[in-house]
Amino acid sequence: MTAEMHLNGTSQQFNAMRSAWTLEEARAIYDSPFNDLLFRAQTVHRQNFEPNRVQLSRLLSIKTGGCPEDCGYCSQSSRHESGLKASKLMEVQRVLAEAKKAKDAGATRYCMGAAWRSPKERDMDAVVAMIEGVKDMGMETCMTLGMLDLGQAQRLKEAGLDYYNHNIDTSERYYNEIITTRTFADRLDTLANVRDSGIKVCCGGIVGMGEEKADRVDMLVTLANLPEHPDSVPINMLIPIEGTPLGEAEPIEPIEFVRTIALARIMMPKSHVRLSAGRTAMSDEMQALCFFAGANSIFVGDTLLTAENPGEDKDTALFRRLGIQPMERGE
Ligand code: SF4
Repeated sequence: MTAEMHLNGTSQQFNAMRSAWTLEEARAIYDSPFNDLLFRAQTVHRQNFEPNRVQLSRLLSIKTGGCPEDCGYCSQSSRHESGLKASKLMEVQRVLAEAKKAKDAGATRYCMGAAWRSPKERDMDAVVAMIEGVKDMGMETCMTLGMLDLGQAQRLKEAGLDYYNHNIDTSERYYNEIITTRTFADRLDTLANVRDSGIKVCCGGIVGMGEEKADRVDMLVTLANLPEHPDSVPINMLIPIEGTPLGEAEPIEPIEFVRTIALARIMMPKSHVRLSAGRTAMSDEMQALCFFAGANSIFVGDTLLTAENPGEDKDTALFRRLGIQPMERGE
């Protein structure tokens, strides 16, 4: 297959690693005829990944609820009446026991999330022990703990942390509609600290929060124009949660969601694009389209932090029907 195609009359290179995307270019790709968009995304995907493999991650909430931040989508904010009960940081041995189960069930990456604004000094020893323990089992490690300064990021790196998740959530323009307790620039600072410490970045956002199409495109342009493309780009579809400010949000139109995945794949050709929260509300056909558009990573397990996720049986059945195999570690 040729590495070039004509889109909107312009010959465009499929596979170049770029980090100077303009909003106009990105919008034109997002708005191109659906078949052209999917063909282009699938072509980029095949040039960079084995097309029938999807990476499986397992996510554990190591500290749930009681978060001082006000993210409008989140059941874990202490400012919203979601009815979620807050818990303390889990004990290290319990985390490692859960990680062992995940490994036995085939997970190659173990993600641990804590509902914090940022980790406190008193929690760092336990967090480090969790990373070391999961690494010893032979799995990749990922954490999401809120904002990090450079010293904290370096400490996590020394413990062996492979990935740090910190999402930008949405476009810079729409950001203040969703979160007021930390700024878009704060998020970029944490991403810089993670990158500078040598940890791989996992960074994406959420769609279906009432944003406009232009916000979805802007968010992806911000990610694609970071000094390095994030290694993983989670794209979440909002799960509206009662008691949160976005509890009544209108669902995003499925084709718009698939367009978002395709644009992420095209602009960040070597990143793992993760179909994250929201899969329970997607049909099998919509998920299949997302895989075709370049999504190649999912979370497995019945829950995602506090939200529902399709069970393993359902995912195994879908993979069998689509001929998809789980990725090996490091793939
Ligand atoms: S998304 Fe994270 S930082 Fe925001 S309220 Fe929820 S747990 Fe806190």
